[in-house]
Amino acid sequence: MRIAVVGTGYVGLVTGTCLAEVGHSVTCVDLDERKIKLLLDAKSPIFEPGLEPLIAQNIEHDRLFFTTNLEEALNGADVAFIAVGTPEGEDGSADLSYVRAVAKSLGEKCSGNLLAIVKSTVPVGTCDIVDQIIQDTLKSRGAKHRVTVASNPEFLKEGAAVNDFLHPDRIVAGVTNEQDAETLRELYTVFVIDDPSKLFIVDRRSSELIKYGSNAMLATRISFMNELARLCEKVGADIDNVRRGMGSDPRIGRKFLWAGPGYGGSCFPKDVAALVKTGDHYGVSLEVLKSVTTANEAQKKHGARKILDHFGGKLQGKTVAVWGLAFKPGTDDVREAPAITIIEMLLDAGAHVIGHDPQGQDNFSREIGSKKNLSYVEDAYDAAKNADALVLVTEWPEYKRPNFEKIAGLMRTKNIFDLRNQWSFKNLKNHGFHYQCIGRPDASTKSNS
Ligand code: NAD
Repeated sequence: MRIAVVGTGYVGLVTGTCLAEVGHSVTCVDLDERKIKLLLDAKSPIFEPGLEPLIAQNIEHDRLFFTTNLEEALNGADVAFIAVGTPEGEDGSADLSYVRAVAKSLGEKCSGNLLAIVKSTVPVGTCDIVDQIIQDTLKSRGAKHRVTVASNPEFLKEGAAVNDFLHPDRIVAGVTNEQDAETLRELYTVFVIDDPSKLFIVDRRSSELIKYGSNAMLATRISFMNELARLCEKVGADIDNVRRGMGSDPRIGRKFLWAGPGYGGSCFPKDVAALVKTGDHYGVSLEVLKSVTTANEAQKKHGARKILDHFGGKLQGKTVAVWGLAFKPGTDDVREAPAITIIEMLLDAGAHVIGHDPQGQDNFSREIGSKKNLSYVEDAYDAAKNADALVLVTEWPEYKRPNFEKIAGLMRTKNIFDLRNQWSFKNLKNHGFHYQCIGRPDASTKSNS
């Protein structure tokens, strides 16, 4: 099949590359000339494990092409994916301006029959809008092409995106007719050959809502566990024990029950907000989800407050090392990362902050902007030099088993705030650290782990 992918971000680039990998001829198009220039040199503009070699391999086999010219990408295409951003608008609803703009361009530039597939996360009813825009544009230029629209939300996880795309748990598509359903089967059967029932072909509105429902459910689990963790801190329970006990119930399951500094990223915060807005629009107040956001904002601040409280609310003259700036391990994406809120609170309290992240430093410094008392280091241990506190915000594998003896020797005062519950009370106590984490008793009150 000849495929155009509009938008070469985390989703579009992985989609295009993986579809090329299974033999399709794919042209990815983006307005961002910097990205396309890098891609034409077989360099990935984002950090995503395994992606860059796959891009290079498929360019080499003449299956993967990049351009800034949509007309060129659409030339002879059977299918065009819309994979542009749907950021949070000022009122919390999804900003559909990029999706609308692409819909109009597809109507203007397509040169034959086309299936437009909306991969961006969009509120229920958006495919109808995209359809209307395309039909209106075709009509106004007197074109007779048959252009139809399908929904096909993406469920990949940054940090594991290539594997998720090639070996999905499920693929969801929403269509209005059997011909489009057949095209989607042709595109995707190869990815679910082990179990074709993983491909769900439903109506467009259900498909759109499956994506929001899924992200909102995951965000809810996180906020729920974070609130339980805060309660554990008050009543002397251990959230790790609570998590294990709860997760053993198959109705609950073990995944997504980890307490931490709150969720971030380019999806959960905006998708929860957008679903709440959709509910409001239809007169259905989604009270649970409203609280999910409130709890998450509180959790991001809760981590920073632990540090502030320990130092009596003032951090003037204190140096705080922060390990982990990306919103999760395995990505350079820092959008809505908890580290932003935490570092801003530390800086406001007068601290000098030294940040480290294996991949996200450049994006983070761009996102947060230049700050007088914020600097970055290339080596994680350098962040700990003369620090009064070390804070773990993102649980990169690099931070799993650090040399605590070395860290103890580097720090001015030995305070560790482990906001991901990664380290052992006993180990840190043995090295003389004051240790605080999330929802577990402090090292000072716990004799073993
Ligand atoms: P992104 O911001 O990384 O990439 C979007 C790209 O679209 C950018 O490169 C931008 O330059 C390009 N673009 C915008 N307008 C364009 C136009 N008119 N023509 C060509 N290119 C254009 O976004 P992303 O993270 O890949 O997310 C895309 C969509 O997928 C969003 O709706 C998001 O919610 C959804 N999604 C994201 C993830 C994720 O983990 N990032 C997972 C599932 C779904």
